[in-house]
Amino acid sequence: MNQALFDYIAACPTAYHAVDHTALLLEKAGYTELHEHADWTLEGGKGYFVTRNGSSLIAFRTPMTGDFSGFMMTAAHGDSPCFKIKENAEMADGHHLRLSVEKYGGMLCASWTDRPLSVAGRVVVRAEGGIATRLVDLAEPFAVIPNVAIHMNRNANDGMSYNPAVDMIPLCGEAADAGMLKQRVAEAVGVAEEDILTTDLFLYNPQAGVEWNGYISAPRLDDLQCAFASLTAFLEAGDKAVQPDTVPVFCLFDNEEVGSQTKQGAASTFLYDTLHRLCDGLELTPADMARKLASSFLVSCDNAHAVHPNHPEYRDGNHAVYMNSGVVVKYNANQRYTTDGISAAIFGLICERAGVPIQRYANRADMPGGSTLGNIANTQVSLNTVDIGLPQLAMHSAYETAGARDTELMVRALTGFFGSAIAAEGNGSYTVV
Ligand code: ZN
Repeated sequence: MNQALFDYIAACPTAYHAVDHTALLLEKAGYTELHEHADWTLEGGKGYFVTRNGSSLIAFRTPMTGDFSGFMMTAAHGDSPCFKIKENAEMADGHHLRLSVEKYGGMLCASWTDRPLSVAGRVVVRAEGGIATRLVDLAEPFAVIPNVAIHMNRNANDGMSYNPAVDMIPLCGEAADAGMLKQRVAEAVGVAEEDILTTDLFLYNPQAGVEWNGYISAPRLDDLQCAFASLTAFLEAGDKAVQPDTVPVFCLFDNEEVGSQTKQGAASTFLYDTLHRLCDGLELTPADMARKLASSFLVSCDNAHAVHPNHPEYRDGNHAVYMNSGVVVKYNANQRYTTDGISAAIFGLICERAGVPIQRYANRADMPGGSTLGNIANTQVSLNTVDIGLPQLAMHSAYETAGARDTELMVRALTGFFGSAIAAEGNGSYTVV
């Protein structure tokens, strides 16, 4: 299971690649691609997926009969903190060639230094009558962000502050190599340099994932571990019939690391538009859709903070979570996590039936913590939602660490979820089968 996760992570250096690779896996499993710009003709008992901006993806299965109890949905994000390469990227002085970059999301800067970084993203090229998009992944080392030697910065180990415009500028070659980035990208894509109109390129960590002594370490575990686990569960559950019929939905969103407020992020209309068109294709009215949503459920899957062995003081006493000890249900009084009594009870029941232990997480009352997908997606499509994740260390590092047994636990929990159906009975009562 972890080797399959590492392969998925390696194939997904950026959110564009995460969508492209996920689409490939869905197509292999018999899913048909739909396009937002085209008409949709849906058949019963079939799998479909749709993408937006090439960086967000939603897949679903239609019910065998026309009727179904509700949508059983998961959401994870395909983007990770990294460095966006600016449009006029190369900066040559008399000796060095460096890249002009800016931070995408909030990374741990120290972890990005002194390691080989590669370049991936999308290239927009001139095409017959307009433009076309190509993905690119140079895959091999292309740049390093070098530290200053301890001899010149004696305070380097006493709490370092990183200025992104000074300390985080990558070295990518010698001055004589100027022009190299565009040339290498054009070669990789197989187009002439002058046909590249613009790019969305990122620096990423190409190091492979490893399993060691009960743990795994890899780049982008937040949130590709959850993306992989929810996709695996979604596909596995597809082979089994659920009674009553449901519509399972798998979501992979871009831009979580920068607040989700983009045309393809969790705050966008993408999920609403997709569900709306799906209902339309099944000849359901808006009132039918509202009725279905009342018996639907969203599992927002984004990794959680395990207790740090060197810094246990950051945990909340009764809400500490540990790697290899179960799926994490996240709580927050201010609803940055959507979990409430109802959603935690429903999800807990499903995990109990699947034989998967759960752990309950809350931030220390004096720490604000992060945000995630669930509450943001709920502003567009509102339904019972639980925020969950797998416990990990060093979130937003270039190389993160998690439990070796946890991916499998998440797959089992979510396979159980996709194999369940929920029916609202009113007054806070639900049937969960
Ligand atoms: Zn995340």
